[in-house]
Amino acid sequence: MFCDVLILQPESNHDQIYTYLLPEKAEAQVGSLVSVPVRQHLLQGLILKIYEEKPQLKMIKPLKEVLSDEPTLSSSGLKLASWLSDYYVCSLNKAVQVFLPPPVRQKEKEILLPGPAKPEAHLFFSEIEKAIFQEVMDNEARGITRRQIVEKYGIEAKAALESLKKAGCLQVNKVFAPRVLAKKIRAVRLTGQCKDGETIRRKAPRQAEIIEMLKAGPKLISELQKDGKSVSPVLKALKEKGWVETFEVEAGRDPKSVILETKRPLMLNGYQQAACQAICESIRKQDAQTFYLFGVTGSGKTEVYLKAVEEALSLGKQTLYLVPEIALTPQITSILLDAFGPEVAVLHSALSAGERYDEWMRIRRGEARVILGPRSAVFAPFSDLGLIIIDEEHENTYKQNEPDPRYDARQVALELAKYYQATLVFGSATPSLQGFYKATEGQYRLLELPQRAGQHPLPDITIIDMKKEIKEGNTSLFSSVLIGSLKRVLASGEQAILFINRRGYHTFVLCRECGHPLMCPHCSITLTYHATGQVLTCHYCGFKRAVPRSCPACGSGFIRFFGTGTERVERECSKLFPQTRYVRMDTDTTQNKGSHAAILKEFAEGKAQILIGTQMVAKGFDFPAVTLVGVINADTLLNMPDFQAAERTFQLLTQVAGRAGRGEKKGEVLVQTHYPEHFLFPTIVQNDYRLFFQQEMQNRLILQYPPYHYLTRVLISGFVEKKVVERVEFFAKMLKIEINSSRYKTELLGPTPAPIAIIRGRYRYHLLLKSENLTFLQKLARLIKDKAGELPLEPRTIIDIEPQSIL
Ligand code: ADP
Ligand code: ZN
Ligand code: ZN
Repeated sequence: MFCDVLILQPESNHDQIYTYLLPEKAEAQVGSLVSVPVRQHLLQGLILKIYEEKPQLKMIKPLKEVLSDEPTLSSSGLKLASWLSDYYVCSLNKAVQVFLPPPVRQKEKEILLPGPAKPEAHLFFSEIEKAIFQEVMDNEARGITRRQIVEKYGIEAKAALESLKKAGCLQVNKVFAPRVLAKKIRAVRLTGQCKDGETIRRKAPRQAEIIEMLKAGPKLISELQKDGKSVSPVLKALKEKGWVETFEVEAGRDPKSVILETKRPLMLNGYQQAACQAICESIRKQDAQTFYLFGVTGSGKTEVYLKAVEEALSLGKQTLYLVPEIALTPQITSILLDAFGPEVAVLHSALSAGERYDEWMRIRRGEARVILGPRSAVFAPFSDLGLIIIDEEHENTYKQNEPDPRYDARQVALELAKYYQATLVFGSATPSLQGFYKATEGQYRLLELPQRAGQHPLPDITIIDMKKEIKEGNTSLFSSVLIGSLKRVLASGEQAILFINRRGYHTFVLCRECGHPLMCPHCSITLTYHATGQVLTCHYCGFKRAVPRSCPACGSGFIRFFGTGTERVERECSKLFPQTRYVRMDTDTTQNKGSHAAILKEFAEGKAQILIGTQMVAKGFDFPAVTLVGVINADTLLNMPDFQAAERTFQLLTQVAGRAGRGEKKGEVLVQTHYPEHFLFPTIVQNDYRLFFQQEMQNRLILQYPPYHYLTRVLISGFVEKKVVERVEFFAKMLKIEINSSRYKTELLGPTPAPIAIIRGRYRYHLLLKSENLTFLQKLARLIKDKAGELPLEPRTIIDIEPQSIL
């Protein structure tokens, strides 16, 4: 038997695939992790193909060892990986990365192997060198690490290793660590040898105490600890007496916990029932239909999803439930755990490698049948998938912007559903233009929930003209209407959410004399002022500096602050309402694990009356006491240099507005802007997604942007601007020739500096390709990728198929 092996080199954008002889007894399968000889090295690889027919090759080496008992990648995983590398134009190596159980992926280590030098060299070895060399030889199949050698032979091993390496008898290889062991923890139990209870009690009370505890059964060592003091000396003494023994137990790593209380409705309304019926029928038939569940905020989409999950479970099938970000959706985690308990696997990004591995294995074995996760969960090792739910379909977090593969989980899910004949359900109150376009075109079946489920009407939305406020002499952040409404809410003991899409205090600092804005020296973006700590920070690279007394450009002392962030809103709010408790939620206040949930909990329990935050507060929370939502400044969203700015603004404002009036009282939403004339605002006020869709689609048509045309971006970045420009112009020339000789309508924009022209000192230039044909764009991208492979690595080339962000 022979096999083709993909050499695993995680960083490489160019694949090496070699053929090896498969030893007769080797229990290898397609997708198995193996070690193979490549020139002088021993490397790890993945079996792509096994076959009997002898290939036309002069010499075929046997593979060294099979490293995994079961395939590391399932056959559908391999199929999907190869689709990924085709669609997103990246190496199979990079595509395979996302499928490998994370511990395998993360644990790269350096191993020692025998080098190319001849055995005669042995004569020159010292004793320790000889021993180490033998050790390396003995462990050749799997490799031994430097650390293991040093641990065994002591500090002298370091010098010995160096001289062995110099003599060419040793070499260092970078490999993946093949497996993670189940987590073991140490426990203690009684041996039954201990008799003389009275005397120990007098002589060694702590020992007696422990024996007393162990009489109830074995205990973990950590459970025996007291007052933070180490228990090991006591245990050592007890072990020496032969009274106790220690042993290892496999720890169940269960990171899941129900954080929030959940309640589920008893009955579905008519719209929900109709949607459920259609979806469940498709699950039963396994007809791989794709649905779009378009329901206003609060229409009860979750309950429809849950019924579908129940249907899939009753057929023994797995469900993949994707959310934009787990940390932002504690409610759904709690609901799923409540409803389906041990069948749930949560692929949280905060899991440790071990926890992740456990969940991964439970999914593979089919023990976990409801898999909740962010975009990367599409790569979990499903055994029998019947349903995929993608909630908040419009969210950009479904697209991975870096590193490769720059995939879109929504696109991957469509492909995945095909493999399993699974039903796919997208859902949102504010669909992406792309998603809704496909639904209206009939590619997806549209299901609608036009009303709020709980009889509570949608809130009233009012647009407030801030220009008028200024004319009337109000220059504060809060319009008089917003102040009035806040007063009313606070007086009646209700809650309010204030939304501003920037964190920090002021979003930029400008010299009034020369107009020079203070920029990050490493990135071409303005620094943000944070009142806490009184520093200027770059939100891209984290650079910090003190506020200068004078303008670095002209020396003027006339420096002014502009723009608004969450901190400033908080400060002004506390001046207006000094008696009120606030919580602030943005990336600054949620850095620690769990702080997010803590803030939400505080607000949910009514300990704070106002929640001030960024995008984060817009996501699917359900706080019945919130009756007012204030959007401090809608313009910062609308003015983003991005063709999707209007779409994002519509989505975000509608989502934020949806937080108001979820309880008994009707909600009120106030949106402050300097441009109330924008076409977007009436569509938001009327909550008319379709109207917005029609108007924005016209803009896209005129500008030939998605969903009418496909987009691909080629970004070149490097520290030497001249080289970046040379490279990007070279690619542009290449592409122009291809485009001119093609029959597809394709447009090349650029080269131009990217909107953020420098990040972390790297100059960035890009080319944008627009075409009516995606396959043609992928072909162009492949040309660029191959050409880049022949050129020096710097400057770097990045290819983004259907990019979400072109900053
Ligand atoms: P969406 O995800 O569509 O914004 P949710 O699923 O969060 O909406 O539901 C909003 C609220 O309506 C929740 O509190 C939910 O319990 C409630 N709800 C859902 N379906 C019903 C129903 N059939 N009858 C009464 N209340 C319902
Ligand atoms: Zn100046
Ligand atoms: Zn920076």
